[in-house]
Amino acid sequence: MHRIVRKDLIIGSTLYHNALCLAGDATGPHRADLRIEGGRIAAITPTGAEPKPDDIIVDASRFLAVPGFVNAHFHSPDTLSRGNSPDRPLELWSLSSSASRQSRSMREIEVATLLAGVELARGGVTAVLDHVRISPDLSADALDAVARGWLATGLRVVIAPVVADRPVAETLPFETGDWHGCDVPDVHSGLSANVQIASVADFHSRWHGREGRISVGIGPSGPQRCSDELLVAAAEFSSRTGCIFHSHVLETHLQRAAALKLYGGGMISHLRALECLSPRTNLVHAIWLEPDDPEIIADAGAAVVHNPVSNARLGSGKCDLNRLLAAGVRVGLGTDSPCCNDGCSMAETVKWAALVHRDWQDDGSGWLTPTAALNLGTQVSADAIGLSETGRLRPGNLADINFFSLDAPAYVPLRDPIRQFVLGDTSAAPELVLVGGRAVAAKGRAMLLNEQEIWSEACDLATRRDRTEEAPAALGGPIARMRRRVSAEEARQCH
Ligand SMILES: [Zn+2]
Repeated sequence: MHRIVRKDLIIGSTLYHNALCLAGDATGPHRADLRIEGGRIAAITPTGAEPKPDDIIVDASRFLAVPGFVNAHFHSPDTLSRGNSPDRPLELWSLSSSASRQSRSMREIEVATLLAGVELARGGVTAVLDHVRISPDLSADALDAVARGWLATGLRVVIAPVVADRPVAETLPFETGDWHGCDVPDVHSGLSANVQIASVADFHSRWHGREGRISVGIGPSGPQRCSDELLVAAAEFSSRTGCIFHSHVLETHLQRAAALKLYGGGMISHLRALECLSPRTNLVHAIWLEPDDPEIIADAGAAVVHNPVSNARLGSGKCDLNRLLAAGVRVGLGTDSPCCNDGCSMAETVKWAALVHRDWQDDGSGWLTPTAALNLGTQVSADAIGLSETGRLRPGNLADINFFSLDAPAYVPLRDPIRQFVLGDTSAAPELVLVGGRAVAAKGRAMLLNEQEIWSEACDLATRRDRTEEAPAALGGPIARMRRRVSAEEARQCH
């Protein structure tokens, strides 16, 4: 197996012989030979096929071949803020971590992306959607730094720059009394909706499709943080270019309250009225939905991105995954920010998705199976973020594949490979991670990046920033009062 860690095996035809394939389809786990040519899976054939004369043959008999994980929601700049945010609910977490997540230099932005690339590649993530927030304002230089970083990682990425234009005080259901003598801040992006869309359009024109690995989407921060003008312009941009429209939605019950106050109705209905729901739409979190929202989302063909670990970390609530799936909604999986997770393991995320929605049932027949959970974190996530040529072990698809060693305690004895992989082997690093047939990680190490140099520079940048960190804005009191008031109002309505 040592031969396949060499970078020079990325071109030509490689035959991974006799791998135990977890394709996630009706065939179930089976032994097969995988032929990789030109960055794609050329063939998957029963073990024993005659090799071609020029084939490089790799003995994969002690390996599981699994589709690369697809992390459908991530924020690369936050890698430098890891370990810097306390255990608080979202609104207070956001406040306490905002200083370390804002106003980064171009080098910080690029190094944060490289840092992300190392961790994701090590964990077998072959494609990722980066909902990247550039602070204080979008700029071509900053977006170029993000894209340059991702290009160097070797991973496949959809970069969806965050856009937002509402003042902070309007994004949550504040009432006058909540401010209690504090100044009401007028903090919002200084750029108009048109300028922000133009900035993303310019970025799209320069980077979309680069090396077949970079895609560009548009990423409203959340409907309550955007004017209707900006949401409509973002949806029109998505329609015009065919790119992904990726937005946080209804992550906390306060956001639901904010929507009812802003729109006089539910947030999902409002997005539908603005024609923001389409098969290109990603609704991230979608925890505090109205009763009919799953059908509205399914009818539009939009996808939900579920982030079970982040939701638990922030105490945001539990996405009703079973209800969404029953309505026919496509649900992909993401890790969310490295400072509200605090890792970015998709193996862990898939296991959480499989287990935390197992509500009481007579016989458990409606529970998500390990196979279904793995599919959410691979093929469904890929489809959701517009990368339907990855996420599956299928001839013709891109060769984005993880190989995990079967010589591990989780597989002794080997009885049910998918169950034992999804539920029993979450801490294992893949022996080999291929993106387009190229090794981006092997034996637990990133192959295309100098890990030690990146870690050293990241620590240096983070330490310098820690020394100059400004105290968070004085929004803590108003947010705490508003949370208590809204909770009390909701409790009264329940009685
Ligand atoms: Zn997020």
